[in-house]
Amino acid sequence: MSNGTFTVPAPKNEPIKDYLHSSPERLSLRHELDQLKRKVTAIPLVIGGEHLLTGARSQIFCPHNHSMAIAEHGLATPLQINQAIKIATETQKSWSKMAWWDRAAIFLKAADLLAGPYRSLMNAATMLCQSKTIYQAEIDAACELADFWRFNAGFMADIYQDQPFSPPGFWNRVSYRGLEGFVFAVSPFNFTSIALNLASAPAMMGSTVVWKPAHTSLLSSWIGLKILEEAGLPPGVIQMVMGDAPEIGRVVLESPELAGIHFTGSTATFNLLWQQVGQKIQHYKTYPRLVGETGGKDFIMAHPSADPEALVTALVRGAFEYQGQKCSAASRAYIPRSLWKRIRDTLVPMVQELKVGDPEDFSNFMGAVIDETSFNRISGWIERCRKDPKVNIIAGGECNREKGWFIRPTIIEALAPDVPTMKEELFGPVLTIYVYEDSDFEQALKYCESTSPYGLTGAIFAQDRRVIQSMSEALEYAAGNFYINDKPTGAVVGQQPFGGSRASGTNDKAGSRLNLLRWASARTIKETFVAPKTYEYPFMKGNPLE
Ligand code: NAD
Repeated sequence: MSNGTFTVPAPKNEPIKDYLHSSPERLSLRHELDQLKRKVTAIPLVIGGEHLLTGARSQIFCPHNHSMAIAEHGLATPLQINQAIKIATETQKSWSKMAWWDRAAIFLKAADLLAGPYRSLMNAATMLCQSKTIYQAEIDAACELADFWRFNAGFMADIYQDQPFSPPGFWNRVSYRGLEGFVFAVSPFNFTSIALNLASAPAMMGSTVVWKPAHTSLLSSWIGLKILEEAGLPPGVIQMVMGDAPEIGRVVLESPELAGIHFTGSTATFNLLWQQVGQKIQHYKTYPRLVGETGGKDFIMAHPSADPEALVTALVRGAFEYQGQKCSAASRAYIPRSLWKRIRDTLVPMVQELKVGDPEDFSNFMGAVIDETSFNRISGWIERCRKDPKVNIIAGGECNREKGWFIRPTIIEALAPDVPTMKEELFGPVLTIYVYEDSDFEQALKYCESTSPYGLTGAIFAQDRRVIQSMSEALEYAAGNFYINDKPTGAVVGQQPFGGSRASGTNDKAGSRLNLLRWASARTIKETFVAPKTYEYPFMKGNPLE
């Protein structure tokens, strides 16, 4: 037993490496890319610390070279999913008793392993399986994940320090228990860091987890879990099960031990999970905590006073980095007529010049979209736009499926503010712009506020401070992450806690103490030092009627 009020090492954001020509990090990355491409990595189910490679397998292909298999994984049977639930539920008792600083140490060590010896491998896996450029892989798989693990340890300690007042004679305490039962973590393909954080944030707080990662990003998820194991994560704390997603969801939500869902992905999937929980609500031992970060239709709204050059950069980076497959990606913009010619004349050639291709060629700005389903969905939208008289494609629109799932960055000019691509999440490299008359600025602001059901991220561009203030007020509920004169992507852990409301989720802000609080079940303890020994109160003594 250790005595002492320990403090977590002050977290700092992991510095982003440059990967300049001939730098050690670039050479090491090249080596790991070559190693990964030489084999098909076998990824097991992880249940109770055992690594299980079952009979049935599914292969994972490289999005920018779709004939190249990079990995394969086992498919969980209902029996195995139930075994994962049983072990997670049983392990919760012992795991939540581990001292919080020992739990914290596992994740702090994992962050150092990731930022050091495993950085190149993790980035290489993210580049090959998720088709990220080295910069996009570095800020996600290396830096953001290390930040989640380090900052969350600090937030956990902050939460535990939040204690109630005790008057003389009493000692009031609050203990923050892990959730009784298990948490179901379900992750999307697009961020290695988000995937690992979905499983590890509840675990850090003393809960145990059954984790269903996305098929296409499984290699980086598996590398992250192996890092956690090397850092000392005990068996049974996080189980990883892959296979048919609706089947896994159905079996997991049948369990009365379900204590929470930690989800990031599309609004439709989260709605389905919520409905399934609602239908079975009487069957759970505790009310499951439902935490979900979902879709977005993120905006850039420019005022006539906006700086045109800053605006163009934000449009290009905000809409097209990682092929527009960030939940925060700018996918609709409102530009005043007075700036439009100047913006278009810079923006369109700049977008036409962006290089799209294999991320191993460092001159490429974009890779491929994640898979054939995404490619078909996005190219289908583009085809419909070609026939729609209410829109004009002014840049890009070319889709090439020959070697990889490549879609050129595409800009659509909307002739009406409510065309479908101003409302719906396309989740690809497509930006729709509505040009408003300067005299209609207030109306354009209303369109921006109410056209889409989402409320995730948004950016305003203006120089006039009174305008910045009034735009911020008008768009108060339009975005959970709101940017002034900056692109709406690139939130950093510890700096811009991330999440939105409306159809974008429960806004529990990944990478903040707000999120970690959802994985704590508080127990209030009141201790009385000298307990009363009679039931009577003083006012009951003496003449009762006087
Ligand atoms: P998705 O909803 O298709 O899949 C997410 C996860 O849910 C995957 O692991 C999938 O296999 C699983 N799943 C699907 N159906 C299921 C079911 N019936 N039961 C259980 N699990 C099921 O999303 P995606 O394509 O992987 O990711 C893209 C989406 O994620 C976009 O909508 C994007 O905006 C959103 N996203 C949001 C945030 C955020 O913070 N708001 C961050 C990243 C991604």
